Amino acid sequence: MKKMKRQTRDILVNRLVQLIFFLLAPGIYASAFNGAKYVLTQIGKVDVIDFTPFVAVLITVLIYTFIFGRFFCGYACSFGFLGDVVYDASSALQKKAFGKVYTIPAGLRSLLMKVKYVVLAAVLGLCFLGYYGKVSFLDPWEVFASFRALDFSLTGKTAGLLVLLAILIGMACVRRFFCLFLCPMGALFAMIPVMPFTMVQRQPARCAGKCHQCEKVCPTGYFTSQEGDDAPFLGRNTGAGECISCYRCAGVCPVSNAGPGRFNKLRGNEWYLVLGKAAILLAAVKLVAELLS
Ligand code: SF4
Ligand code: SF4
Repeated sequence: MKKMKRQTRDILVNRLVQLIFFLLAPGIYASAFNGAKYVLTQIGKVDVIDFTPFVAVLITVLIYTFIFGRFFCGYACSFGFLGDVVYDASSALQKKAFGKVYTIPAGLRSLLMKVKYVVLAAVLGLCFLGYYGKVSFLDPWEVFASFRALDFSLTGKTAGLLVLLAILIGMACVRRFFCLFLCPMGALFAMIPVMPFTMVQRQPARCAGKCHQCEKVCPTGYFTSQEGDDAPFLGRNTGAGECISCYRCAGVCPVSNAGPGRFNKLRGNEWYLVLGKAAILLAAVKLVAELLS
């Protein structure tokens, strides 16, 4: 009962923080992505890379990810929020209609997770070669961003809208579908090393028997990929960058053995720590945008 309450509270805090970012800073994803595209375009043109607001937001989010892990993905990205909300609704409906929720086989998930690196390479390659503008009509983010800004005109957005609808169907079937399989920024973040004191870890020797609770709730299969790994620290975990810092593992672990940093009694996903990390991210992004505008 106590565990149930803790999980519900964790999820409520997660959704609340996501909502705050959705309302106050919905464009961080787009700004960081534009920054990455701009840098590659300039390199392709052998031209000067200016320190634009987009580049500044990109650097800020990358540094933040290095220090705090992918907290941005777990709590601050509008597209991640959209994926969570769609899957929450879909899983509730599936439970009601079929009595269970469909889950993707772990092997297939792990294979499809490599696709986002191909997407990232394709986007950056097209920018480098100067051709990204020719395929930008497929960009689902532009459509999502204009809908969020209450602009529902569809002129020139048909292809992007179809891509967005396909992604929404995927989001309804697999938790964090876009993040796991398609997001180029997710692929970039996954390559950033994370400080050991904030990286999500567990020590198998301290686990409560074979409960596997953290593996069941993790949308990324992060712990499953470390089966048998007794070395939870930086550089020795497989797929460490795939963790999106949702901290659901910390909420379900009965012996507080899973979560960001295991150096003290904190689980790392306590509401005040989550709100503190959210405040730092929001302040940092707003500050750089303000200074450079
Ligand atoms: S993986 Fe991409 S879409 Fe998902 S939360 Fe991270 S940046 Fe956002
Ligand atoms: S459940 Fe834990 S390991 Fe899995 S993505 Fe969330 S924070 Fe990372």
